[in-house]
Amino acid sequence: MQQSFYDLNYADLEKLVIQNNLNASVSSVLFNWHYKKKETTPCVDNLAKTSLAFIENNVDFSLPEIDTVNESTHDRTVKFLFRLKDNYKVETVLIPFQNKYSICLSSQVGCAMNCAFCFTGKQGFTRNLTTSEIVGQFIQAWRWLAANRPGEERILNIVFMGQGEPLHNFDAVKKACEIFLSQHGTSIGIQKITISTAGYIPGLERWSQEIPGVNLALSLHSPFEEKRNELIPINKKYPLDEVLSYIDKIPLQKKQFVTYEYILIKDFNDSVEDANKLGELLVGKAAYINLIPFNTFPGSLYEQPSLSKVEKFKAILDTFKIPTLIRTAKGDDVLAACGQLNSKARGSAAD
Ligand code: SAH
Repeated sequence: MQQSFYDLNYADLEKLVIQNNLNASVSSVLFNWHYKKKETTPCVDNLAKTSLAFIENNVDFSLPEIDTVNESTHDRTVKFLFRLKDNYKVETVLIPFQNKYSICLSSQVGCAMNCAFCFTGKQGFTRNLTTSEIVGQFIQAWRWLAANRPGEERILNIVFMGQGEPLHNFDAVKKACEIFLSQHGTSIGIQKITISTAGYIPGLERWSQEIPGVNLALSLHSPFEEKRNELIPINKKYPLDEVLSYIDKIPLQKKQFVTYEYILIKDFNDSVEDANKLGELLVGKAAYINLIPFNTFPGSLYEQPSLSKVEKFKAILDTFKIPTLIRTAKGDDVLAACGQLNSKARGSAAD
């Protein structure tokens, strides 16, 4: 069986090269071709005939295919629906900032966390994505920009905030990060990658050992355990106080913050009491709060609070001197905003 090139980090590729007596330069040539130049056709740069033949017979370069592209008319957000080899589908979002983009990657087909406010959770869990399916979202989105918005193919930040719980698919996500970080390839800065979690402690345990330096975002959503249980079912197994003490143990680099995401839901977690308790919980930590007014989706039970309520909530957090940003929704006209990803919504999953 052929091995997918995009499942290999640089060390894996070097191993393959050595085991098969290929020229040592093959690894850097291939990483340069497929990750720096982002070519998806067979490499024609500086490779000996024997290497070319080996690669052709043993290595697969196929990537998830773009099924549908939705471009927001409000802003420059782009949502991709990718078709995987087994016909399952996942979504990826390019989020514009200045003249650049952040990319929001999916890590699983569906999600097992079943959070009450999240559209992906409604889709259930199907399977983990492979590293090549994660890395492939990036390569294909970059190539789409190069073809459709030439000169704009600058994806500077990677956030694992698409479909799935990335820490529930740790091995594949970790390897994808190693590939993104590799200086032989895309060479993304370590502080430009953020992994968002609902608080899956087994993944957090591996974090500090295996991917130190990558940024962490925690979906917090309520400082009260009972309310958080209602929103995020795994809180019953891994309660917030345990999650926060795990996070406190993760060594941070200078100027590195943990992002705490807080969805504001009307009349549920948007009161003065909620804000004060959240402030008390995070005061003094290297914390950065992202307030996300709830984004509605077809069939959602919750509502978004008024802007004045959101601003009042932020003003309370300001008194704790915690940097807080109100995140305005981007791409909500194409259901590309946080929590609006559901690759089954248009009957598009494999059936
Ligand atoms: N499973 C991971 C990553 C995916 S969710 C996690 O839970 O963090 C990415 C972010 O979108 C999370 O902060 C999540 O809580 C938020 N989100 C989910 N549904 C939302 C909705 N309907 N409105 C606003 N944000 C939402």
